Amino acid sequence: MIHVEGLTKYYHDLCAVDHIDFDIQKGEILGLLGPNGAGKTTTLRMLTGFLRPTSGSIHVKDYTIDEHPLEIKKLLGYLPESAPLYHEMLVYDYLSYVADIRELDRDEKLSRIRYLANLCGLNEVMHQPIGELSKGYKQRVGLAHAMMSDPEILVMDEPTSGLDPNQIVEIREIIKEIGKEKTIILSTHILSEAEATCDRLAIINQGKIVADGKTQTLKQSAGGASLIRISLQNADLESVKKELQVIDGVTDIVPARREHGEDDNILHVTLTCQSSVDVRGDIYRKIKETDWILLELHQETKTLEHIFRELTREN
Ligand code: ATP
Repeated sequence: MIHVEGLTKYYHDLCAVDHIDFDIQKGEILGLLGPNGAGKTTTLRMLTGFLRPTSGSIHVKDYTIDEHPLEIKKLLGYLPESAPLYHEMLVYDYLSYVADIRELDRDEKLSRIRYLANLCGLNEVMHQPIGELSKGYKQRVGLAHAMMSDPEILVMDEPTSGLDPNQIVEIREIIKEIGKEKTIILSTHILSEAEATCDRLAIINQGKIVADGKTQTLKQSAGGASLIRISLQNADLESVKKELQVIDGVTDIVPARREHGEDDNILHVTLTCQSSVDVRGDIYRKIKETDWILLELHQETKTLEHIFRELTREN
């Protein structure tokens, strides 16, 4: 449905999006997940034709963004991060106005507004001014706007940004409902959000896609390992790596963050281990052979959140 290749955007010297490639299949909900400044908005703005790429190509169905920007815009509904709404208008009047711009005839317009009011849960606020609505309701109006022309693809930039937890759940439910029929790409910097809503995740960091896969597959790959965090006194990283790396089942050792103001003599390290092997006993025995003092040993299962943090660490 969508094929993106080598997509790049420079703002003067700053490379905001750096040669990214991805595909979106029909009916998929793809989450573009990344920390602030990763390049999500820039990517979505290029995809929707609002920003010209520095290089690279975007194909939507049989169209390319360079040659057929209007055709592509017709296939897309776009909900930007701060949906531009006319606050003094009543919800009904606003949706009616959007329908007129989209050149729907009278019957189409009425049935579309009725459908979207139901889908987005707007029935009880149809005759209220938009400016008086809560943020959650304003976002629903933005969604109804984006969906007015019944686009095949819905693009949403941080659709739950600034909403309270109840509103987040409500918008998520609406997105899932829409996702039963449409192809959706949404951006978010909240992992739980992406996990709950998206079939597939593309993790973006400093303009590059650093992981891309089915949410379930990424979760399973995370679950294939466990993490052991140990805190030691009188130990240095090089010796710890040398001694512990040889233990069967330990695949990686990295320094972990030190607490602010903590004694310089304390070293924290995180060991990545195969979850099928319990190496805690071996670690303890190895440490016992040295003059290090074991202050703490803690095991946890590796989650998608660990992967996300590892991949976006510089940010
Ligand atoms: P956020 O979640 O904070 O919106 P993002 O992942 O959407 O972040 P972008 O808004 O695409 O990231 O920004 C990517 C980088 O490009 C950032 O370093 C940002 O400061 C920079 N940037 C974005 N828009 C512009 C612009 N119009 N001119 C110059 N630099 C820009």
